[in-house]
Amino acid sequence: TTLLEFRQVSKQYGKDPRALTDIEFQVHEGEFVSIIGPSGAGKSTLLRCINRMIDASSGEIIFNGTNILKFNKRELKHLRTQMGMVFQHYNLVDRLTVIDNVLHGRLGYKSTLQGVLGLYTSEEKHQAFDTLKRLGLEDQVFKRCDQLSGGQKQRVGIARALVQNPRILLCDEPIASLDPNASRVIMEHLRHISTTMGITVIVNLHQVDVALKYSDRILGVNKGSIVYDGPPQGIQDPA
Ligand code: ADP
Ligand code: ADP
Repeated sequence: TTLLEFRQVSKQYGKDPRALTDIEFQVHEGEFVSIIGPSGAGKSTLLRCINRMIDASSGEIIFNGTNILKFNKRELKHLRTQMGMVFQHYNLVDRLTVIDNVLHGRLGYKSTLQGVLGLYTSEEKHQAFDTLKRLGLEDQVFKRCDQLSGGQKQRVGIARALVQNPRILLCDEPIASLDPNASRVIMEHLRHISTTMGITVIVNLHQVDVALKYSDRILGVNKGSIVYDGPPQGIQDPA
């Protein structure tokens, strides 16, 4: 079944040339999709339109059967609980522990006070521990995030996104700041999450070889347009 569909989506920032022009594609539930293309192609803009961190200028974005561009504030809030986001620079609160970062994310980033007061239920804590363990972070749970390596930080970022029980994970250049070994670990976790949990994963990558290795499908973007939409095998001669 189709989970996400873009219909003639365009985005223009101010008076600049359009960053996205008439983007059209569909993503099926459970699919692992990589968006590839050179810097400035529009990958980040495209990904951020999906959870409306950026508002598209025109077109329709259909998620689970409804056009999210028409959503009001309340509907948008609910939409974002269904979409986990993973960032290149992790976006963790460095002075907090790993577990606090993860629990903090669970309630939608607005519950620092609850976290500080320790108001999480034991079920929420169990799920957070469980998720961290599955990501190989059982020995890091009570460390402050600023004591972690980049690869560990990114796994915390993934855990924080997962504990909301999202239907889709949006990952914006999740390995761009990591060495090849840490990158491989992150990609294997994302692939595993897609396969074992059935969560749809959409990842921006500029490494074509990585995208080809892990994805069910590739969206190639250049100058704001889709230039390839198909299986990894259809991409010739990776750079
Ligand atoms: P990518 O992720 O592929 O590097 P982006 O989506 O970041 O590409 O950028 C696409 C185009 O939109 C680029 O020309 C970029 O300069 C422009 N752009 C991105 N964000 C903004 C912004 N906030 N304001 C103006 N222009 C932007
Ligand atoms: P258990 O029955 O062992 O508690 P669940 O399948 O209920 O396991 O998962 C508990 C939590 O662990 C899930 O809500 C999810 O956040 C996390 N989780 C499950 N599978 C994975 C996975 N493959 N990678 C990362 N986290 C996972």
